[in-house]
Amino acid sequence: MPRPISASISLPSLKHNLAVVARQLNSFSQQDNRVAPHIWAVVKANAYGHGIHNAVRAFEQAQGLAMLDLNEAVRCREAGWSKPILMLEGFFEPADIAAFRDYSLWTTLHCQEQLDMLKATGPGRPLHALVKLNTGMNRLGFAAHQYADAYHQALAEQRRGVLDTVGKMTHFARADDNVSVTEDQFGVFLEATRDLPGPVSLCNSAATLTPRYWLWTPPEFEQWVRPGICLYGSSPFPNQSAHDLDLQPAMTLRSQIIGVQDVAAGQGVGYGHSFVAPQAMRVGVVACGYADGYPRHAPNGTPVTVDGRPTHLLGRVSMDMLIVDLTPVPQAGIGSSVVLWGHDGPSVDQVAHASGTIGYELLCALAPRVPVSVQAE
Ligand SMILES: *Cc1c(COP(=O)(O)O)cnc(C)c1O
Repeated sequence: MPRPISASISLPSLKHNLAVVARQLNSFSQQDNRVAPHIWAVVKANAYGHGIHNAVRAFEQAQGLAMLDLNEAVRCREAGWSKPILMLEGFFEPADIAAFRDYSLWTTLHCQEQLDMLKATGPGRPLHALVKLNTGMNRLGFAAHQYADAYHQALAEQRRGVLDTVGKMTHFARADDNVSVTEDQFGVFLEATRDLPGPVSLCNSAATLTPRYWLWTPPEFEQWVRPGICLYGSSPFPNQSAHDLDLQPAMTLRSQIIGVQDVAAGQGVGYGHSFVAPQAMRVGVVACGYADGYPRHAPNGTPVTVDGRPTHLLGRVSMDMLIVDLTPVPQAGIGSSVVLWGHDGPSVDQVAHASGTIGYELLCALAPRVPVSVQAE
């Protein structure tokens, strides 16, 4: 028997989460008498650890997919995705442009060097492009004072037949926790893109799930939102759970108890003895460690479910194992089922929060050695 750890990916949950987003976009758009935004389902980093191929199957209702790795884009095409694909970092060198043309990829244009590469390219299938504005994230994008010039260069490439659609894009730094910063970023966007034609793309999960943010865009512009994390059933907000948002966990990480110890009062548990038993207790050893993608920083008390009952970690996570308190589950023993996160267990956000990180990191970090099964219905 292989080691008992495994991850399962639920396609119905991925579909459900996309439907939740689409339903909200539709209902607020209807109330506002506007066309609902289109959705770029963000599938970067192997669909946040869920598998690109699974995402292609589950997100067939999305209008497009967004990512940044050319190999992943090729895999989406090979899996039969024929709708738009947006490359969030654009191309990196002139040779990439041929691949973007071959696979019909939308590019982001975020720096002058990319525009120069386009200008130096010969004729070929025209690319769709979103010109990115830095409105305050200070990651990718043209500065506001450079933007109109960059946009006009892109429009010139459109006239030359190198580009097809030309649109506008930015990214919010604090859509999850700060309205006024987001409002300021939108103000910069509105000012810098004034009078420039073309579709608009602004919103990640947090902004997509905050209707006022995408409703800021004037209704005459075609709008595309870019939700990622929420589609996988993790909350983008620090103060709102995925459950509150009606999102379902799409990844469940499971294992089993493979060892049991009776620990006497005063004895330490695991490396460094970072937990010392205050009284005699039974502990279970779970086949899951940081080499599986479980966070090594998860402290004493991090939630875990054993035999359907909530309990918690004791001591340090080691490479291949971690130790849990069996006091709340006295009947548990070797072979008992353990859910580290996901369906019928703690949420990935709870485990991440306890460990000082975010659900994104844990989902993306699922280790290649963990076998993954796909639940199709
Ligand atoms: C990752 C990413 C997204 C999606 O962000 P979530 O917080 O996962 O919704 C959207 N836009 C860009 C540019 C990104 O890099």
